[in-house]
Amino acid sequence: MATITQPQQLGAGDRPALIGPVMVLGHEGPQVISLAGGLIKGIDDAPGREHLVGQPSHLALPSFAEPHLHPDRAYVGSPRPPRSLEDAIELGIRPEGYVVETAIERAKRLFSTLAVNGATRARGHVGHLPSHIAPPRWPVMAQVRAELADLIEIELVAFAVEGALNDSEELRRLRRDLAAGSYQLLGGSPNHDSEPRKAVSAIMRLSSETGVDADVHIDETLDPARLLMDFALGEVERYKLEGRVSFSHCCLLSALPEQQTRALARRIAGLGITVNCMPRTNLILHEYGNHSPRRALAPINLLIEEGVHVRLGVDNVDDTFCPFPTADLLEIGYLARLAGHFYDDARLLSSLSDGRSTLRTGESADMTLVKANTLNEALSLRPERVTMRAGVVVAAGKT
Ligand SMILES: [Zn+2]
Repeated sequence: MATITQPQQLGAGDRPALIGPVMVLGHEGPQVISLAGGLIKGIDDAPGREHLVGQPSHLALPSFAEPHLHPDRAYVGSPRPPRSLEDAIELGIRPEGYVVETAIERAKRLFSTLAVNGATRARGHVGHLPSHIAPPRWPVMAQVRAELADLIEIELVAFAVEGALNDSEELRRLRRDLAAGSYQLLGGSPNHDSEPRKAVSAIMRLSSETGVDADVHIDETLDPARLLMDFALGEVERYKLEGRVSFSHCCLLSALPEQQTRALARRIAGLGITVNCMPRTNLILHEYGNHSPRRALAPINLLIEEGVHVRLGVDNVDDTFCPFPTADLLEIGYLARLAGHFYDDARLLSSLSDGRSTLRTGESADMTLVKANTLNEALSLRPERVTMRAGVVVAAGKT
C-alpha cells in the first residue's frame, strides 16, 4: 500500500496517492482518500482508526467555486465606507476608483488569495464600457486569466451597464468580444440603468443570440417599487434561456411578502436560474443610518426550500462597495450562517462549491483540506488550508 500523506506535509506541486486520516463531511470517523489520474478513487475508513488518538487534523471539503467578484476594482480602497449602493457607485467613479497601472497586479492578488483560501474556480465581472472602468480592462483580465490557468479556473463576465447596451457602436464591440470568446458570460446591473426593463431585455436577447450564458445583477435594492425580478423571469422564458442564467444579489426578495417571494422563488427554480447571494457586500451597502436595519440578503433558506440553486460569493474586496481586504469563502459562509441562519452543513457547502455538498468517488479531485475538526470551526477560525485541483496541490498555507 502506498504511503499515507498527512495534509500538513503537502506543498504546491505534490500529487499524493493517499491522504489521511482526515474527516470528510458525510462520512463517519477518520477517512483515507485515494487519488489516481486526477480523480477521487475512494473514500474509506482510515486503517487502524480504532487506535487513533484524537481527531484527525484536517477536514476535507469540495474545493470552493467563487461565483461573483469584481476583480477590476479590487484593492483600490475607498475614502470612507459606503452609505448606500448608489453612494458606492458615485465614490467608485472618481479617478482613483480604477487604477489601470495596478490592474494586473491587483487582479492576480485577488485570484491567488482565493486559491490559497481553497477556491479552484472564480467568476469575475469586468466592466465593458470604457467610460465606466478605465481601459484596457478586457485585455488585462484575459492576461490574468491565462497566466493563472494552472492555479484557478477563471470565468469573466462582460459587465454591460448602461451605454454598452444602448449605444450601437458599443453593442457592436460587445457582440464582437462575445463572439471571440473574450468573455465566458454576459451580465449587467439593469436596476441602475435609466431604462431597467430595456436593459434586461437587451441582455437576454444578446445572450440568446450569441449563446453566451448570462449572470445579471438583479434587484440589488430593498425598494419594492424597483422590483425587476418578475419582468426578468418573463424575459428568461421569452428568450428560452432555461438553465443558462444566474441572478446575482436579489436583495429585494428579502423585503417582499412571503407569499410573493415564494411564488417568485418557484419560478426561479422552474427556469433553472441560480441565485448568487453576497452577504458581506449587501450587509454593508444597505440600510445605513436605519435604526432597525433589514439585512438585505436574498432569503437563502426559503430559496433552497423552493428548489433554487443558491451560491455564496465574496463580491467586492477593498473598494468603494466593501472596505474589507479578505477574499475567503469561509468568511462568506460564516456571514451567511450568522446573518441568514444558514445552518445546514451540506447545503452551505453546496453553496460554496457550485453544488458539491461533499466529496464523492469518481469526481475530479478538486478539494480543500482545512485545518479544522468541524465546519463551524472552519467557518469561524478560517485556518490554513491545502487546495487541490485534479489531484495536484496548487496552493497551501494561510492568507
Ligand atoms: Zn457585483
